[in-house]
Amino acid sequence: MKFVSTRGLSEAVSFSEAVAIGLAPDGGLYVPEAMPDLSSDLLSWKDLNYEETCFEFFKHFATDIDSEILRGLIEKSYSGFTHADRAPLKQLDNEFWVLELFHGPTLAFKDFALQLLGNLYEHQIQTTGKGINVLGATSGDTGAAAIHGLLGKSGVNIFILYPDGRVAPLQERQMTCTEADNVFPLAIEGSFDDTQRVLKEIFADQNFRTGFNLSAVNSINLARVLAQCVYYIYSFWKLPESSRESVEFVVPTGNFGNVLAGWMVQQMGLPIRSFRVATNQNDILHRLFSSGNYQVSSVEPSLAPSMDIQVASNFERFLYFAENSDAEKVREIMGSFKDSGAYQFSDFDRSSFSSSRTDDREIETIIKVVFEKYGYIADPHTACGMTDVLSGDMSPQVVLATAHPAKFPDTIEKCLGVVPKHPSLEILKSRNVVKHKIASVKDAVESFIEKHS
Ligand SMILES: *Cc1c(COP(=O)(O)O)cnc(C)c1O
Repeated sequence: MKFVSTRGLSEAVSFSEAVAIGLAPDGGLYVPEAMPDLSSDLLSWKDLNYEETCFEFFKHFATDIDSEILRGLIEKSYSGFTHADRAPLKQLDNEFWVLELFHGPTLAFKDFALQLLGNLYEHQIQTTGKGINVLGATSGDTGAAAIHGLLGKSGVNIFILYPDGRVAPLQERQMTCTEADNVFPLAIEGSFDDTQRVLKEIFADQNFRTGFNLSAVNSINLARVLAQCVYYIYSFWKLPESSRESVEFVVPTGNFGNVLAGWMVQQMGLPIRSFRVATNQNDILHRLFSSGNYQVSSVEPSLAPSMDIQVASNFERFLYFAENSDAEKVREIMGSFKDSGAYQFSDFDRSSFSSSRTDDREIETIIKVVFEKYGYIADPHTACGMTDVLSGDMSPQVVLATAHPAKFPDTIEKCLGVVPKHPSLEILKSRNVVKHKIASVKDAVESFIEKHS
């Protein structure tokens, strides 16, 4: 299978090339050149375990990787998950399930994609014999998950930039207490915007970029979206037969990567009824799906920080398919959006989606109600998906639990009076923090990379 850019001006590439390149040269995102029809295969995956499901799914896409190698990469990627099911489905009520996606090394759903991406990078380094330097900027979860995907792998160094003093203490510990010598957490003096700016400037420095074989870690890599497809398939078959086609999958959403993966599997033939795009108070996507108006506004920090986004980078992939693979139309829409910060859609098909918005006060109420009613502790991101508990009018649903509550002890303690714990976070508390403080200046970061790669 080949992959094309949503902007239509870059050449079609293989799976491995798309993974290595990340963002297409024309500024677009890689998508399968045609959405495969898996409807007959999907049925035969009903009784497979997580890794087997993942392997059967990826065989359709990673056609340029030897299938036994692929199987090994997948097995290695999920062996560090602490739950035998990898993505266990828990029933809280008659027609109310939680799909727990937080049993990976950093206790957030991003591990599903970044563990696999780390192993794909390692495989690429082994085949090409060429080392890489991975560079990314984070305000929390992505950086931690990326670091744990690449920890200790030979031939790769990872440099993660984050605003000093502005990420949650436990997230900082996940990045800085790894004891791995290929991991370099760079605490940038400044805001998240300063951090982003420095990162962009470094990637725009072509000589430096090629000289140091820089690779980006961000939410748009093709492998990330495909890896996230798998738990929709796996959990679909775990539901009782009578509920499979009536539940809505509710997805706490930021960059639209997670919910996009679900929608793609539906397009490939899995009969999922619908999806709910559940945002926090940064509700650009809720406004889009309720009114067709896609309009940037400023980011307000919330209790669910990993969903604090201004624009949803993965939305472009949905747009491409919703516009029937018309790359010219995508260029026109993205161009006009870039110029004016807004786009009004008149006719795109959003029939598979509903949406909701949850502000901080509602997050706190939901955490309390869910605990009182079900004895279940939802983290602030997951709480954004559980809005129905406020009205008590529960439609049949599976809510994706995207992080473990122990990552957000302050919010949970404020709501419930208990401090949730997790052994992997407790271990970090006794370790030394190793971070490198650096000015938010391109040259300073480049010379650090030069010294340490
Ligand atoms: C990244 C993240 C999200 C948002 O996922 P998207 O793919 O960006 O929509 C939600 N919850 C948690 C805990 C996250 O880390």
